[in-house]
Amino acid sequence: MAIKITEECINCGACEPECPNNAIYEGGAQWSIADKTSVTGTYVLMDGSMVDVKARFPALAEDTYYIVPNKCTECQGFHEEPQCASVCPVDCCVPDEAYQETVEQLLAKKEALHP
Ligand code: SF4
Ligand code: SF4
Repeated sequence: MAIKITEECINCGACEPECPNNAIYEGGAQWSIADKTSVTGTYVLMDGSMVDVKARFPALAEDTYYIVPNKCTECQGFHEEPQCASVCPVDCCVPDEAYQETVEQLLAKKEALHP
């Protein structure tokens, strides 16, 4: 499943550069599939909708850093464990129960983001 950032986040910024998928954004920042991924053209989100990879979407949190579930692969294909959780000083990067995904699904997402 994807990882999420809880309200305990102290906005230190340590996690953001560690994410291999650029799934982590500062509060209030818009996100896009294309940010630091190699995918071009269109992309199918987890809900089945197709978007332009360069389309920018509203922030998912305003006051803390946040993770885009559509870009988080739990670091599968890159690292042994979620890098955001590894570096977070307050342990506020936790599994997001709303997004139950198998390792195969996470690896498929990684391949889709980095074809
Ligand atoms: Fe990024 Fe990995 Fe954290 Fe997901 S688990 S947000 S891919 S660093
Ligand atoms: Fe927030 Fe933890 Fe990321 Fe720092 S490392 S910005 S406390 S989620």
